[in-house]
Amino acid sequence: MRFLRGYNDAVVLGLARSGAVTRVDLAERSGLTPQAVSKVVARLIDEGLLVESGTRNVGVGKPRTLLKLVADSRLALGAQVERDELRVVLTDLAGDVLDRAVAPLPPDFDPPAFVAELTRLVNGMRDDKLLGVGLGFVGPLDHRTGVVHDATGLVKWHDVPLRELAEDSLGLPVVLDKDTNTAIVAEAWRRGEELRDAVLVLVGTGLGVGLLLDGQVYRGARTNAGEFGHTTIQLDGPECVCGRTGCIEAVHNLAARSGDLAGATAIVGLAVADLVQLLDVDHVVLAGRAVLAQPEAYLAGVRAKLPTADWLPVEVEVTPLGDDVVAAGAAMLVLSEFYGRPR
Ligand SMILES: [Zn+2]
Repeated sequence: MRFLRGYNDAVVLGLARSGAVTRVDLAERSGLTPQAVSKVVARLIDEGLLVESGTRNVGVGKPRTLLKLVADSRLALGAQVERDELRVVLTDLAGDVLDRAVAPLPPDFDPPAFVAELTRLVNGMRDDKLLGVGLGFVGPLDHRTGVVHDATGLVKWHDVPLRELAEDSLGLPVVLDKDTNTAIVAEAWRRGEELRDAVLVLVGTGLGVGLLLDGQVYRGARTNAGEFGHTTIQLDGPECVCGRTGCIEAVHNLAARSGDLAGATAIVGLAVADLVQLLDVDHVVLAGRAVLAQPEAYLAGVRAKLPTADWLPVEVEVTPLGDDVVAAGAAMLVLSEFYGRPR
């Protein structure tokens, strides 16, 4: 996606996002000259993105004017595409979800049917203040080219230039990423700089993980990192939609479908423990339909399998963003570009 603003504007907006600031704060934190800050601030006030709001006393000298971000001055849309459902949320510049729409998708939907349904939902929430649309889609896909390679479990999707198709139909900038990546973007956005090394485990119709390593979303060389559901956990295990056998996703889904909740949550726990050993993450966020239906069981199942050393604490939580986490994160990808600080 194109950068929507000049660099200095984006830096100033990014700093204003974290709370009321003065022009002096902005100059100190951005490294811009006071003259440059004054110019940028005047332009942003003119565009309705910033507003003067009160003053701060600084001891000597006259009180300094505080500047605040106008959260609803621009909006973003984010979508989660599951194998059977499309969810679209509307967020403001603060990343707060203002509205949502959900529609079922037909079995084995093809690209034209999907784009038509996406366009219908987006048109229902269309607003002059929209910056763009983020799509959190089933992988594998390439987030740089916007092409879906072979979405697992969706047979009519092979090398589909989805970003281009969506932009043509919507007339808005579109950014595409894997659902697990947009979900970890949402958590990173919510928790801020304190979240450095985390995994988000998304258990929906499939099972995948989003990785935040050293403060950055880790996508790998081909946006294929996090296809953790398709690593082998049982040598003689059940067949998987990916064509292999004994994948974590297949073993989990089989247990869940046969009503073995303890077995299903234990598989996720064992898998997460492996991730903790491999990556040394200290935060685990659980998300997805299966988790949200039985949050306490999944929390307990995962906590029971984690390393027990007291110097290796791991915080496990269920995402407070609930069903919106993937779609909200997709909107936040759009906002991140607006702020010029993609993570
Ligand atoms: Zn598999």
